[in-house]
Amino acid sequence: MKVIPRKTHWCHVCDARFVITASIKRTARGLRVRKTPARCPECGAPRRFATGQLSDGRAQSMVLACVDARARRNYGSVERFLRGAARTPEQVHEILDFAASLDFDGYVRRYEGVRRTPVIRSEIAALETIHAELEAGTLRARLEQEAAAYLDELRQERARYRK
Ligand SMILES: [Zn+2]
Repeated sequence: MKVIPRKTHWCHVCDARFVITASIKRTARGLRVRKTPARCPECGAPRRFATGQLSDGRAQSMVLACVDARARRNYGSVERFLRGAARTPEQVHEILDFAASLDFDGYVRRYEGVRRTPVIRSEIAALETIHAELEAGTLRARLEQEAAAYLDELRQERARYRK
């Protein structure tokens, strides 16, 4: 068994900081990394890893996935993006605000003079939908709808483990 350097983890529910120790174990199915503890020693909440941020490009892909089935197949669902990026309801809301404030017109301009393959045509159609949703002021609510299940999970987790 090999022990790799320790890392401090910050609990998203109770703000406690604790050290995570990772060890590598050889098993019949190959090497396995085991990180302990799996839960916060203070409140018992499961560990969650996320920076609370999404890059411009990833946020644009998330919005595309929100309005377009093909983009969703290629990039994954809005919920999947959020699970990888946010670990508190506040972080989810910040990321959704950020995503809904991106410059999608600039995104469309990237395709000027580019050959319209079926993928690009579908992406441009999705961008037109996004544009219409932004004009109507409905994009943010639509994103939040897709985030509802994850937001609920985070709120329940907080209610359950916060003392
Ligand atoms: Zn905790």
